[in-house]
Amino acid sequence: MSKKLTSRAEDYSKWYNELVVKADLAENSAVRGCMVIKPYGFAIWEKMQAELDKMFKETGHQNAYFPLFVPKSLFEAEEKNAEGFAKECAVVTHYRLQNDPDKPGKLRVDPEARLEEELVVRPTSEAIIWNTYRNWIQSYRDLPILINQWANVVRWEMRTRLFLRTAEFLWQEGHTAHATKAEAIEETKLMNGVYAKFVENFMAIPVIQGVKTESERFAGAEDTYCIEALMQDGKALQAGTSHFLGQNFAKAFDVKYATKEGKQDYVWATSWGVSTRLMGALIMTHSDDNGLVLPPNLAPYQVVIVPIYKNEEQFEAISKVAEEIISDLNDREISVKFDKRDTLRPGAKFAQHELQGVPLRIAIGPKDLENETVELARRDTLSKQTVILDRITIVIEDLLEEIQENLFNRALDFRNEHITNVETFDEFKEVLETKGGFISAHWDGTNETEEKIKELTKATIRCIPLDSKEEKGACVYSGKPSKVRVLFAKAY
Ligand code: AMP
Repeated sequence: MSKKLTSRAEDYSKWYNELVVKADLAENSAVRGCMVIKPYGFAIWEKMQAELDKMFKETGHQNAYFPLFVPKSLFEAEEKNAEGFAKECAVVTHYRLQNDPDKPGKLRVDPEARLEEELVVRPTSEAIIWNTYRNWIQSYRDLPILINQWANVVRWEMRTRLFLRTAEFLWQEGHTAHATKAEAIEETKLMNGVYAKFVENFMAIPVIQGVKTESERFAGAEDTYCIEALMQDGKALQAGTSHFLGQNFAKAFDVKYATKEGKQDYVWATSWGVSTRLMGALIMTHSDDNGLVLPPNLAPYQVVIVPIYKNEEQFEAISKVAEEIISDLNDREISVKFDKRDTLRPGAKFAQHELQGVPLRIAIGPKDLENETVELARRDTLSKQTVILDRITIVIEDLLEEIQENLFNRALDFRNEHITNVETFDEFKEVLETKGGFISAHWDGTNETEEKIKELTKATIRCIPLDSKEEKGACVYSGKPSKVRVLFAKAY
């Protein structure tokens, strides 16, 4: 492995970029803004997918798949949505290449092969899905429709960062259709809650659930619920969103249903999504200057065993012990990797597993064989202990739980220490510059004030927390009356 990472204190953003590449999670590709997710990174994403998929199914959803392309006329049907995404759309105009008569060995677009209607590469799938739902929904008996799709989408972002903001990203998008407004709102909240539960319990990242202000709302939504997390550098990250779409898409695509009373009414909609951005959240919540730190629930392997030996005989004896440990751990559904590569020295293996965030490392050497012990190292605290061989599985089982909890609590403490109540704009600016994190402040509820604060400080309103209490106050910028505090932060 190459030399150490840049430290977080020195340059947080450089640290992040180096870590993603050196921990073998992802790398930039030949396509601007599009990344290659490498096997180790993809294994983590697959774990996230598996758990989320289970949670979606437990809440009554099914998976389906819709086309990558959206005919332009469908895309423009819901005007606000179209307008919101227009600037980021990749568009297919032709369907064939041909040899370029002027440049031997080169290809060009066949001018004869222009598509009659241009195709938008989906930046989100409401349009194509609601156009389909029109054929699926006639009466209240056809409702609700509770569908999720795992897919890639393209948003032509100008400033991209691996995982955090890419031009193509992987995500899931839920699209549901309901007979009543109340049911659709309930679904929107339910799925935001599912995201919160997943990110907290599984990724060990504390989140704040809230609603977005009008200016931060999803284009075409009536309300956007979100989960917001705080990264180690004091910047916030939107980790997931759940939208109440009202009847906007039903009206745009003429999706009506016959009510029980025999009347015709438009259908109510929601959509909700989380993306590979969650990988960025994971990295920036738990990792340290030595590399990635993974919560056991998401680690591709939770334990790694490194043998330390001088000759074949020692290796054989250590392998025997290792195989027994592996079999016992597998019985308890704990995943283990036996790193018996003979091309790397133990020290280099230690460094690599540390960089890749493996929660627990077992080292077994000749001394351990004699004493019937092993050395066990924790990635989260970097502490080591000697464990009697007989107790190793039980110790590991307990430790994995403890690490999962420790990571959450550590992040929660940090997050809570970084929510600051402020009353004046001077205080606002000072906290933002010196401490960062979330700033809890009164806001007069207008777009103008929100915009002005953003212009002056780069901080945006991350959300109006769902659990915020009514409290009389004065807007931190305009001094006008306000009823609740909202959370501001600089954000990714
Ligand atoms: P949206 O459809 O805009 O509500 O976004 C759904 C989810 O995708 C949210 O969790 C966003 O944070 C995430 N997301 C939006 N844009 C990007 C991007 N360019 N790269 C990665 N994730 C994104």
